[in-house]
Amino acid sequence: MTDTTASAAATASNAAAFEVRRHEAPLPVAERNAALADLRFGTQFTDHMARMQWVNGEGWGDRRVVPYGPLQLDPAAAVLHYAQEIFEGLKAYRWADGSVHLFRPEANAQRFNKSAHRLALPQLPVEDFIGSIEALVAVDEPWVPGTEESSLYLRPYMFASEAFLGVRPAHVIDYLLIASPVGPYFPGGIKPVSIWVAQGFHRAGPGGTGDAKCGGNYAASLLPQQQAIEAGCQQVLFLDAKEGRFLEELGGMNVFVVRRDGTIETPRLTGTILEGITRSSVIQQLEDDGRKVIEKDITLDEVRTGVESGDIAEVFACGTAAVVTPVGRLASPDFDVTINDGVAGTVTMGIRQRLTDIQYGRDEDTYGWMRRIA
Ligand SMILES: *Cc1c(COP(=O)(O)O)cnc(C)c1O
Repeated sequence: MTDTTASAAATASNAAAFEVRRHEAPLPVAERNAALADLRFGTQFTDHMARMQWVNGEGWGDRRVVPYGPLQLDPAAAVLHYAQEIFEGLKAYRWADGSVHLFRPEANAQRFNKSAHRLALPQLPVEDFIGSIEALVAVDEPWVPGTEESSLYLRPYMFASEAFLGVRPAHVIDYLLIASPVGPYFPGGIKPVSIWVAQGFHRAGPGGTGDAKCGGNYAASLLPQQQAIEAGCQQVLFLDAKEGRFLEELGGMNVFVVRRDGTIETPRLTGTILEGITRSSVIQQLEDDGRKVIEKDITLDEVRTGVESGDIAEVFACGTAAVVTPVGRLASPDFDVTINDGVAGTVTMGIRQRLTDIQYGRDEDTYGWMRRIA
């Protein structure tokens, strides 16, 4: 477990450094309200975006909040050819009193820099990362939904915008932050997902980019994800590339197993798994609730036989987008097992409730995880 010590209130923000150019024709209020009343995931964006640019030898500058709109990108921009790109994902939550809060943004900022290091991208000061979010949300605050289990999804990212066709780290990097109001991930109530075990494909290998949040990892996951859909599942589970025996994670979520005796297990971080902030928060809360959480190598075989024998009572996945998601079925060409009769388990739903209660301000934030931004 890492980064559970940062105190949310402690980090300074560089929001005042962002020059704001307001949209001359933002979406009319009635249309915005109509959009907020019919939320999907990632299809609607707010009126503005934040940006910065890094130039080799000069550092970060050009901090701005500008109207949301298409980018001008040279066709030779390095990102389009060599995929030098990373991103983050976090949410702004509106509490019942109208205030707006982020969940552990310092952890996202730190992970952004860890990803940046792996992709040979420049480090971004934490106060710029948080400052860009505060500056954008200050302008687009009415876009933060106030309805239950809704939030403003924030997507910070940076990429190689320098125009050249040579293989080296780019000397010009653009940082952008866009925001999208999102509704509940499961509009009809929480339904356990079916998971397909990837066949012959891995998302990451030892020494690769598996523990960096980069677009390239997702590109590699799309074909197996498509095969999962063809097999009647919603998500794909990746096994380790070295032996093809150990659970790693889903395309964009970490995975947990709940034993009948209440012990909880999750794959240990080996460098090929993305270290989820939801993952580390869930581990901490489960431990504080007196549960035993073990980070270890978990074989697909033991999960399969454990589910069949009833020794494994629940399986769940977690990530910022869907929070905590029950897994009701695990399938591959060799087997097809139903977990907990295909219904959401009590440990899964309990930890989901515990986490969202803090995020939405329904429960006291004893961890110092929330940061008020509006
Ligand atoms: C973002 C991501 C996760 C979940 O991380 P959170 O910080 O919990 O949102 C898990 N796996 C992958 C591959 C990811 O990109």
